[in-house]
Amino acid sequence: MFQAFLIKYGEIGIKGKNRYLFEDALIHQIRHALKEVDGQFRVTKEQGRIYVEALEEYDYEETVGALQRVFGIVGICPTVILEDEGFEKLAQDAVAYLREEYPEGNQTFKVNARRARKDYPMESMEINRELGGRILDAFPDMRVDVHNPRIMLNIEIRQKIYVYSQIIPGPGGMPVGTNGKSMLLLSGGIDSPVAGYMVAKRGVKIDAVYFHAPPYTSERAKQKVVDLARKVSRYAGPVYLYVVNFTDIQLYIYEKCPHDELTIIMRRYMMRIAERIAEKTGSLGLITGESIGQVASQTVQSLAATNEVCTMPVFRPLIAFDKEDIIRISKKIDTFETSIQPFEDCCTIFVAKHPVTKPNIKAIRRSETHLAEKIDKMVEEAIESAELLVVG
Ligand code: ATP
Ligand code: MG
Repeated sequence: MFQAFLIKYGEIGIKGKNRYLFEDALIHQIRHALKEVDGQFRVTKEQGRIYVEALEEYDYEETVGALQRVFGIVGICPTVILEDEGFEKLAQDAVAYLREEYPEGNQTFKVNARRARKDYPMESMEINRELGGRILDAFPDMRVDVHNPRIMLNIEIRQKIYVYSQIIPGPGGMPVGTNGKSMLLLSGGIDSPVAGYMVAKRGVKIDAVYFHAPPYTSERAKQKVVDLARKVSRYAGPVYLYVVNFTDIQLYIYEKCPHDELTIIMRRYMMRIAERIAEKTGSLGLITGESIGQVASQTVQSLAATNEVCTMPVFRPLIAFDKEDIIRISKKIDTFETSIQPFEDCCTIFVAKHPVTKPNIKAIRRSETHLAEKIDKMVEEAIESAELLVVG
């Protein structure tokens, strides 16, 4: 029944040049999301409206599902497109549309016509009135309510006539690509994919870095992270995933530093390396899945110690979330089942039995001096040899 979708998006703060950037990014992301849907679509922008038109048979549910993953969309309106064959035909088609969509025939309604083509022989008010009359004639139990109608029948007169009344909620947020790019530290856990999703929702394009420690962590563990990056890319667009071999650095820290400080020192090196790759590749911030108090390495003292090594802003969207809330989002975005696959993580392999929970930054800095110059070369090598995978 529906040949198109009218896309509604938030209008606030997108005046002038910003408006074009916003709309172009939105169209780009809509095309990306529709790639995985069966069917050919045309996405167009005209007179402040974005339309997705189906060029052939398509799967309605899948299409709506894909559009609901495009940040910046606030409403998706399934639309019927009619040829302009005069007002009489329009009135018949509008009645047929209502009969199909609202078979109960007893709702309140309002007609909201908009004449985008000024050579149409009737004015908007006249169309509202005449069409309202025809609908009342056809449905004895319907009533007009201009203030709070159950059905808002929108009629847009362009070259063709667009009819819609439903608004399916979109995800909100801002189109990816309108707020720069940031580097997500992506592990195989539950939290970091959710963190990436949340920051992408604010319009930030996402690159990712994964620290891999073969042979202590397996190819399966790495594949799990690739799978998670792919799930995030359904919302965020293609993700450039940098896989850093972290084994030598971890072993060296293990050899030289107190074992109860291991996790913190490792986390500091992850942040340093992520920041360096971010700088090289145009990211303006780092993103982690950290949340206060979740584990020993996420006490406020530990977070301060990890944060100290970065000058870039570190975005931690989950910082004050309970695990339950994070899990709820991970289920919603379909990363949960992948995240709970039981593969080893490089942080858990070398973990001490009793890690410090209140690290003393001075002590940590002192321990790191044991790593001397050799560590700089190792960091350099890890960055140089990082493998790039384009996912999604
Ligand atoms: P997650 O569920 O995201 O793995 P977590 O609760 O297991 O988080 P940690 O293991 O302490 O917490 O990691 C904290 C954050 O550090 C993660 O959210 C992620 O952003 C980053 N991180 C941890 N391990 C890795 C890794 N191997 N590669 C990339 N980033 C990592
Ligand atoms: Mg983890």
